[in-house]
Amino acid sequence: MVRVCPRYCPCHSMKILLVEDDSTLGEAVMLAIRQAGFTVDWTRDGVQAEHALSGFLYDAVLLDLGLPRREGIEVLRNLRKRGATLPVIVLTARDSIEDRVRGLDAGADDYLLKPFSLEELLARLRALLRRAHGVANSTVSVGRLCFDSVRREASVGETRLALSARELEVLEILLNHAGRVTAKEAIVDRLAGWDDGVGENAVEVYIHRLRRKLEGSGAAIRTLRGLGYLLEAER
Ligand code: CA
Repeated sequence: MVRVCPRYCPCHSMKILLVEDDSTLGEAVMLAIRQAGFTVDWTRDGVQAEHALSGFLYDAVLLDLGLPRREGIEVLRNLRKRGATLPVIVLTARDSIEDRVRGLDAGADDYLLKPFSLEELLARLRALLRRAHGVANSTVSVGRLCFDSVRREASVGETRLALSARELEVLEILLNHAGRVTAKEAIVDRLAGWDDGVGENAVEVYIHRLRRKLEGSGAAIRTLRGLGYLLEAER
């Protein structure tokens, strides 16, 4: 599980409000967001959404436009009228330019046309949250391991890990693919820019060292024979 988190550890989980009346889509989006490490509240109509927004603090909203009881666009307008600046991504099947402009005018930060890929939704959500929180949100975490891509630092709890430049690079590659398999050749490829070149054996050495340094961090690098490496939170 990878999370966008603030500079300091332990990383707090960001809370997202999902407003979607379609059960199948709502469930798929909710699961994907949860798996990505966010906390999610799911409401299915515009009135419920306004209740949630006035009673709880959210880091972002995913808002369908065609909603029972109150239109998404109205929910959005009311939210902005109250001065709330949290990022809102509009999810809609309406693809006329007029609708898009209406949504953006009402205060949407981004737009996704249905059907959309969950990966794209997550990428846009992370990008918006990073922007909303400035560079302080350049950190991702797996288990208790936090990696700050701006400072180029990895830490576990309060302790900064002593990693060589190449170990950091390998860790960053794995973190960018966290939860998915990274082929050994892909790492060799990424490290090819280093002056003396790096072979597969060298990658194995870096992985071996990283594993030792990650002991007790709650993050582990698994080897999947013939496929590559997988960085994931220990269960
Ligand atoms: Ca709808």
